[in-house]
Amino acid sequence: MTTSAVIVNLAGVVTPDPARPWVVDCFENAAIALDGGRVAWLGRAVDLPARWRDRERVDGKGGWASPGFVDGHTHLLFGGDRSQEFNRRLHGASYAQIAAEGGGIRETVRATRQASLEELVALGEERLDKLRRKGVVHLEAKTGYGLSLEAELRLLEAYGELKRRGWSLDVTLMPAHDVPEEFQGDPAGYARVVAEAWQPELVRRHPGVAGFCDVFVEKGVFTAEQGRMVLQSGKALGLVPRIHADEFGSTGGAELAAELGAASADHLMFASDRGIRAMAQAGVTATLLPATTLFLGMRDWAPARKMIEAGCRVALASDFNPGSCACLDPLLILRLGCLQLGMTFEEALTAMTLHPARSLGRADLGHLHPGALGPVLIWQVKHPLDLVYWMGEAFVPEIVV
Ligand SMILES: [Zn+2]
Repeated sequence: MTTSAVIVNLAGVVTPDPARPWVVDCFENAAIALDGGRVAWLGRAVDLPARWRDRERVDGKGGWASPGFVDGHTHLLFGGDRSQEFNRRLHGASYAQIAAEGGGIRETVRATRQASLEELVALGEERLDKLRRKGVVHLEAKTGYGLSLEAELRLLEAYGELKRRGWSLDVTLMPAHDVPEEFQGDPAGYARVVAEAWQPELVRRHPGVAGFCDVFVEKGVFTAEQGRMVLQSGKALGLVPRIHADEFGSTGGAELAAELGAASADHLMFASDRGIRAMAQAGVTATLLPATTLFLGMRDWAPARKMIEAGCRVALASDFNPGSCACLDPLLILRLGCLQLGMTFEEALTAMTLHPARSLGRADLGHLHPGALGPVLIWQVKHPLDLVYWMGEAFVPEIVV
């Protein structure tokens, strides 16, 4: 059985260069040789080495090839949806009013606790399939809508099953996503239970499923000190910290991420200058989630330009979740990176591929240089810029594995 093939008849290939920060290589009239599911050679078709010329050929039909998207921040598994609440907000109800009536995240927690393992796995597959068809080949996915040990265990088990079924994902433990009803008014007590009891139990019961841990450090949720406790407990269990930081105000989340050597700090609309410098120095990926800003009707776009100039590795992700970002569309994220965060096309593409892969410790994803894992996306566009320029167009890539 042959496992090698050459993709020919490509108008070009566009890919971040893993050896040179922020550089995007663009080869016109290109070919890509794949061997055993990995890129073996990349360049102009006329330079294709002789040993590849007699291999099986895949017709690129004159399209442009790119690496698959990597989504570094999703809340993939949850029960129910919040479209009714969304419309109530459009009718003028405030988020606080909806929360006071028992809606908001509590509604999702109720629906998630009621969902069976089979229902969660089915929901996960449906959402993963939608993302895959739009070019997302790998993603990060969090627990955090169970907020009880039993429900968090079920979410983790569902993620383990999705991995066994072959879906490419990294899992993050996030019982400290919010303070559950049972611990109302006692975030410190809840953070301690998560740090001392739940995280160790989750890892013990489902070893190897999760590689990361996360906490929501924000006014009214968890303080930086409580976040530190949760993430340090995760580190002791071999989990790598990520953090929801500085989304609605500056609460020292970026600084905490740098202090703990987190893989990523996410949201960061209100990150301080000191926090941005500290993240750059510590090599923390700044993961920006512009579709959440859009969905919440806010205008506080994350300061991507400032972060890039400070030397941060910036990534863009969806933040897919039922309350603040019901979005399974990577092209919308790419477009918002350019149109609202002021990133160049090359920067936004790098932030959708190479940088999130790096934040997940995956050197073989997010680019198409030799050694990279497929799949390869092929877009029927005149130039890759069309993906952003035709901003309402629902381009769908062909996916070559
Ligand atoms: Zn999130």
